[in-house]
Amino acid sequence: MPDFQAILEAIYQDTINVSDKGTIASYIPELAHIDKGNFGIHLRTSDGKSYGVGDYKKPFSTQSISKVLALSKAMALIGESTWERVGVEPSGHPFNQLALLEIEHGIPRNPLINSGAIVIADILVSNLKNPKEDFLKYVRELTGDVTISFNKDVAHSEKITGFKNYAAANLLKSFKNLNNLVEDVLDFYFHLCSLEMTCSQLSNAFYLFANNGKCLRNKLHINDKQVKRINALMLTCGFYDEAGEFAFEVGLPGKSGVGGGIVALLPDHFVITTWAPGLNKKGNSKLGMLALEQFTTKAKLSVF
Ligand code: GLU
Repeated sequence: MPDFQAILEAIYQDTINVSDKGTIASYIPELAHIDKGNFGIHLRTSDGKSYGVGDYKKPFSTQSISKVLALSKAMALIGESTWERVGVEPSGHPFNQLALLEIEHGIPRNPLINSGAIVIADILVSNLKNPKEDFLKYVRELTGDVTISFNKDVAHSEKITGFKNYAAANLLKSFKNLNNLVEDVLDFYFHLCSLEMTCSQLSNAFYLFANNGKCLRNKLHINDKQVKRINALMLTCGFYDEAGEFAFEVGLPGKSGVGGGIVALLPDHFVITTWAPGLNKKGNSKLGMLALEQFTTKAKLSVF
């Protein structure tokens, strides 16, 4: 077994002083003031051990990362019929692109771009009794942590500035791929994106994808086939228009968010989460990508 704590510390020291730390996602006003100096890494191995460096205990906005948790809940609820309403191909375009949605008659390319996640949100609004509360309960159950919550200010900030998400939801509605009211679905979607978690809480939440569908507390939430599908989608679609680059550099399924978080995992081995809020041009955390490339190289552990 590699000395994981020593590896994380070496990566942290190496990466923290990089001068170009990227750019904060200021298009969500509530995120614009986050300090670019934040940087944390957390690793949870499948034998239950936990390692961390830097700001790994500080909560941040998970943003698109929570789309994976929403997808897992939708798949647990409606199974394979999920794929009647959303595709499984990378989009090759930014996460909020609308043209493709119009050309492809309201079927989003995959569930990890905004339009796809809005369809998943619609499925959850239809199938959960109290969507926001029930989804939060699911995340708290996965992590065993009742302190996890939405950030109402971030949700509100997205609500008043999320014009492209309104456009996507309306397009979906016009193609009859949204069953609930645009307002209700987007309210749920914005809350989903506003979920705040620390690196260690995220590693714990994603543990089921590295552990055949069983969460940290050994409860089965999704089956093997569903885990396989979700990991495949993270590998091919988890990094906006940079999934190829992430596979090339890091070699793990994962998901990033514009809050600067990245979660990546190796089935049966580990989940690793990084947080550094400065983003590169494609919207992925600059230091996070550097750190994860170093991690899989130093630990000699990747899917390839
Ligand atoms: N809430 C963000 C949006 O809808 C999510 C973006 C992201 O993290 O990719 O724009």
